[in-house]
Amino acid sequence: MNPNCPYKTRGNAAIALKVDAEAIDPLRKIAVEVVEEYSELDEGAETGIAFLRGEPDERLRSFYWRAVRELIPLEDAFRLAEEVGAELVYYHDGRGVVGALAAIGADLGSGKTYELIAHRTRAYWGTVRRIDPASVFEMDRATRPYTFDNVDYEAGEIRIAPHTPCPVLLGIRGINPEAVKRAYEMLRILEPVEYVTIFETNQATDPHYRRLRIADLRDGVSAIIDGTVSEAPRTDAGGHVFFKLRDDAGEIYCAAYEPTKSFRKIVSKLIPRDEVTVFGAVKLKPQGLTLNLEKILVKRLAERIVRRPPICPACGRRMKSLGRNKGYRCRVCGLKLGEDAAEVIKVRREIKPGFYEVPPSARRHLTKPLMLEGLLRDHQHR
Ligand SMILES: [Zn+2]
Repeated sequence: MNPNCPYKTRGNAAIALKVDAEAIDPLRKIAVEVVEEYSELDEGAETGIAFLRGEPDERLRSFYWRAVRELIPLEDAFRLAEEVGAELVYYHDGRGVVGALAAIGADLGSGKTYELIAHRTRAYWGTVRRIDPASVFEMDRATRPYTFDNVDYEAGEIRIAPHTPCPVLLGIRGINPEAVKRAYEMLRILEPVEYVTIFETNQATDPHYRRLRIADLRDGVSAIIDGTVSEAPRTDAGGHVFFKLRDDAGEIYCAAYEPTKSFRKIVSKLIPRDEVTVFGAVKLKPQGLTLNLEKILVKRLAERIVRRPPICPACGRRMKSLGRNKGYRCRVCGLKLGEDAAEVIKVRREIKPGFYEVPPSARRHLTKPLMLEGLLRDHQHR
């Protein structure tokens, strides 16, 4: 679901199970028992469960797309459940019913990936995860790009294991079930595994983005914007890089925050008039709406030109500037020349046109890694 949702827990995920059954009653009993055993209801978890007989219709499909891209008022979820005949069970205010209904309506026809999740036995919850990191690097080299985001090479760390005290031992993402299973079998895991599940997911498929004009942006959306750099990048004391982007209808700040590491170096090489397409989450910040960069396509680089004082035509010495746009004067013979006598030098740009992305450690789950560009689509059309 929408990774920008302020009420989210963790990654803002929801799961749907399709079950062949005679009656809902026994399923309801199992679902309620599982939620009451494992949900942190005493800590205020607003878990929601939805049951639907038959296939989701267009109303649930469009609710899914809203849940991935917008913020949905809770009333809308309760109203939709009534309209489509879905039965709800929920705790506290039940904000979880938004995700539960959206998961039933999930439309993965336009792109899906797979995630294998291995669960820990209860005795190990909260302890350090015992996975041989070297085996994760070996697995990544052997299975990528059919699996992805297993490791962050820049940070030199494995990415398959969370750092929270949750029951998940590890998760492997890939473009088909066989790839994640094969990758899992290559790992050296030094603790018991309770069970393993392979999920079909919308992760790494870019479902959250909409192509928008700057004038149409709102807090909490994820957008793709075509624009022109209008103010050069600057780096603040925290190591965050900001620049301004303009399109025909507005101007917005774009940010590459410190955790995006080397991605900031790319961004900081942009100059005004560069043409780019930016991908990211829009947040309302003190300076105004700001797009938190996840990917950037550098389409066309502006010419970078520097002007410097010319050589004096009379005595061959380098002249001196009289100030901005005030022309030049020779310190030796006193000759004066106008600004248009300046020596103009075209400076080589330090970046190339192309697609750039944040490292895996800073990537959000829904964002498609560049290495899947083409691959994912090709795979699914086979
Ligand atoms: Zn001179």
